[in-house]
Amino acid sequence: MGTSNSESRQTTSYPFLRGQKALVTGANSGIGRATAIGLGKVGADVVVNYVAGRESADEVVRAIEGLGVRAYAHEADVSKEDEVAGMISRMVDEFGTIDVLVANAGLQRDAAVGDMTLAQWQKVLDVNLTGQFLCAREAVKEFLRRGVVPEVSRSAGKIICMSSVHQMIPWAGHVNYAASKGGVQMMMETLAQELAPEKIRVNAVAPGAIRTPINRSAWETPDAEADLLRLIPYRRVGDPEDIATAVAALASDLFDYVVGTTLYVDGGMTLFPGFATGG
Ligand code: NAP
Repeated sequence: MGTSNSESRQTTSYPFLRGQKALVTGANSGIGRATAIGLGKVGADVVVNYVAGRESADEVVRAIEGLGVRAYAHEADVSKEDEVAGMISRMVDEFGTIDVLVANAGLQRDAAVGDMTLAQWQKVLDVNLTGQFLCAREAVKEFLRRGVVPEVSRSAGKIICMSSVHQMIPWAGHVNYAASKGGVQMMMETLAQELAPEKIRVNAVAPGAIRTPINRSAWETPDAEADLLRLIPYRRVGDPEDIATAVAALASDLFDYVVGTTLYVDGGMTLFPGFATGG
């Protein structure tokens, strides 16, 4: 995605993550890209993870460096245990530690259930759910090793899981994706419960329909967008920056007492809009 007008909406320059080190997975595109830049805008140094698109990752790194903070790109498949361990270990070498993990990388492999191959099911679970687990596990090891550094943050670490409205809305034709996001919700809540006593905050952001490559077919023609808008009471397709702002807030000490919560950022999509005139 190129630079969008909506990027100017995230204008705050108050550096409430100054000195913190953030890793954003799947940060060369869409929501991850906007989030990585958004965290840089509020003062964090950022690792830009990608799996395939080196050029777009480098472009995100340049945008973040232009904000006066540090950034580098790191290629790793989040579903591969050794690659995730290597990514966190390099981050500790280069940045000294990790304070914020945004487990964002995700994909879809859509099919009606009768046509869905085991490979399609497994790929989505591997990246969307196991990938978040592996990243969280490696980040937690470092959070526990370092503990709270009060000059940096009131907590020992923050994890923000990128979920979806489909952690609660069933989605025909996407059983692998919906199952993965349902799993993200319970993984996030369980980790939050387990890790809160260690002063580690785990939360999730659940986007509704956001204008990114993952769902291009849902918004790229006027007819498709009109259909989509019927599902959104606020009558606007979301921009990646809407999600970036929510992630930055959840990662900051402004939200220090928020633990195990899913913040829906969806223009009201989860409000059962079909019932606005019926029921
Ligand atoms: P996107 O533009 O397609 O971005 C997905 C990102 O994930 C890309 O950077 C991709 O890298 C990366 N990725 C895929 N497989 C990976 C792997 N194995 N290891 C590391 N990175 C990998 O889609 P997006 O909309 O920004 O999606 C980001 C997250 O938001 C996903 O978890 C998605 O489920 C969630 N979400 C999106 C929406 C929406 O409406 N857009 C709604 C709800 C939830 P490459 O480009 O290099 O493959």
